[in-house]
Amino acid sequence: MHPDLVALLALQDDDSAIVEIEARIREVDEQLHVLDRERAVLGDAAERARASADAEERKRRDLALKVQEHKALQDRNLAALDAVRKAREATAALAQIDLTRRVLAQEESDLQALSARITDLRQSAELHELELAEVDKRQQPERAALAERRSALEQEHAAALEKRAATARRVSRDVLAKYERIRGRQKTRALYALTGAACGRCNTAIPLQRRNVMAAGRSIEVCEGCGVLLYASA
Ligand SMILES: [Zn+2]
Repeated sequence: MHPDLVALLALQDDDSAIVEIEARIREVDEQLHVLDRERAVLGDAAERARASADAEERKRRDLALKVQEHKALQDRNLAALDAVRKAREATAALAQIDLTRRVLAQEESDLQALSARITDLRQSAELHELELAEVDKRQQPERAALAERRSALEQEHAAALEKRAATARRVSRDVLAKYERIRGRQKTRALYALTGAACGRCNTAIPLQRRNVMAAGRSIEVCEGCGVLLYASA
């Protein structure tokens, strides 16, 4: 057997183990992400309701100032009416009073509508926050379990990387470089056994002469069909 083959096969096993651990970490992350999204929907809704309530509150404050101004104006209108002596002036003053009264009535009604809307929005925000607190409570044990699992997987991952580094040191430099290059390209296995007279991955036939060299353990060949490293399993 080729001197690098044992170590290379071990390296491939180590890499498979690492890939598998990484897939499990991604699964845990996906589950955490699902929990995050569930929270985010409620959090966003509460945030939107609060922002709308704040915007309406600003409108209400502006409108309340206007109402104050118009009430002051109405006071002046009434004072002016008291002071008039001529009928024509009284008609004009009454028209002004009537106009201001109608404006005030509309503004008061708008103020009430705004207040009702603000109350609704604040209630809606509170409701979403209550729901959020409930979801947090419900998610808590699941999150704790996922965090525990993730941290265990991280430790497993670190140990697997260390083991892999140790195995890689047993492979000669040029073979390792080939292996890394193929793995980097394929993102999968780099090393395949011959299946009969052909590449175990793409089934390209390997000439007898090269197979003999491989079988004698003198070389690890690169498949001309798909570019993986090939070895004779027997
Ligand atoms: Zn091949």
